Amino acid sequence: MTPEQARQAQATVERALGGAEVNPYEMFRAQVDLAGQKLGYPADILELVKRPERVVEVSIPVRMDDGRIEVFTGYRVQHSSARGPYKGGIRYHPSVTLDEVKALAGWMAWKCAVVDIPLGGGKGGIVCDPTRMSEGELERLTRRYTAMILPVIGPQHDIPAPDVNTNSRIMNWVMDTATALRGEPMYGVVTGKDLAVGGARGRREATGRGVVIVMEELLAQLGKRIAGTRVAVQGFGNVGSVAAQLLHEKGAKVVGVSDVSGALYHPEGLDIPALVAHVARSPQRWIAGYTAPGVEALPGPEVLTLDVEVLVPAALEGQITADNASRIQAQVIVEGANGPTTPEADLILEARGRVVAPDILANAGGVIVSYFEWVQNLQNFYWDEEETHERLASLLRRAFRGVWDHAQKHGVSLRTSAFMLGLERIVEAIRLRGIFP
Ligand code: NAD
Repeated sequence: MTPEQARQAQATVERALGGAEVNPYEMFRAQVDLAGQKLGYPADILELVKRPERVVEVSIPVRMDDGRIEVFTGYRVQHSSARGPYKGGIRYHPSVTLDEVKALAGWMAWKCAVVDIPLGGGKGGIVCDPTRMSEGELERLTRRYTAMILPVIGPQHDIPAPDVNTNSRIMNWVMDTATALRGEPMYGVVTGKDLAVGGARGRREATGRGVVIVMEELLAQLGKRIAGTRVAVQGFGNVGSVAAQLLHEKGAKVVGVSDVSGALYHPEGLDIPALVAHVARSPQRWIAGYTAPGVEALPGPEVLTLDVEVLVPAALEGQITADNASRIQAQVIVEGANGPTTPEADLILEARGRVVAPDILANAGGVIVSYFEWVQNLQNFYWDEEETHERLASLLRRAFRGVWDHAQKHGVSLRTSAFMLGLERIVEAIRLRGIFP
């Protein structure tokens, strides 16, 4: 790393120290720079691996139910194909920006490298508020977006998946649109589909299940176990609700959960199956409105600072910041979300002896089972759920041990260790392939 790059990485952290909002793509670049510095990699290589290979921006006209045409903006960012086809989810959210999608695409490349699956990294997003759209509007939005990005996606090229506010129904539409436009079955163009249309058993639960596997491994290293552990979970969507449910089944006390509608707290542990049933019945899929004896409603952000042993941020990026990191009581943080901790918060947590299982390891269960789904689509041969669970657990446990051992050997945090491992593998693939032409 050149002195200039070191200065830029430091400046990103300092901006966070000043309380300014951190741009997620700058955060990603700073994380790679830090790993590159530890490994002594040259500036040109670091510049190459920090930049996305391709950025696509599309305008998506949609006929709304009231007859108006609304034009949405969508992105598909292809960060790295050094280790395999691009892979990464599609996010529907009003605050989607190009820099957010670029960061998420970069983190996907690192995630696939850390867990050592033969895929690169990509990500997509549409600036929209799906909670204010009808089913028909969402379907037209999804199908037109798919048509617009079809030139750059495909089973051998770039394979999207679900992310925030997207689900199996939306993935089914992506697959069906690609199939209709290409005139041939395209099951492998997207993962996270429903079972009847090429989905994989265990995909929906995979990210939350992976969070719990990584938590189990980390707690074991610290001489602890899940049963009896007090946990708080921020975000009660695909990742958070499944993690909470599995933790509850393993005997943890999930004392606090939150979502966009607020937070709930019970000092002896919430009845997670009852809460999951409530959310399934709620039109907006919110925890708001759930009541039970002993359950207290709290402002949403308070879930992060509850008196717990383990915290699982599973909502959006930038949640653990300079403002709240010093008030976090959990000893262990397992990142279900992508980028939930700002670089400054990371420094504060490290100084306070908190252990963070980083996103690119802790939430990799989703992309691992997406990889399994894609392999099954290509072979047209489907596994049972037990096989998926076993393979997921074995891959993630191996990845955890790699990151843990590497961290011990180099005296770095688990995040820096994971970024170093990912960087080594991506750079090795580039070295072996060479630079075209
Ligand atoms: P989701 O849309 O299913 O759920 C998001 C949840 O976060 C919802 O409960 C929402 O109400 C809540 N939320 C939103 N803003 C919040 C706020 N300010 N405070 C508290 N809660 C808030 O999304 P998801 O698929 O569960 O994704 C959650 C995170 O996990 C994202 O960072 C995503 O990138 C990451 N992730 C998802 C997957 C996957 O397979 N779905 C895989 C890896 C990482």
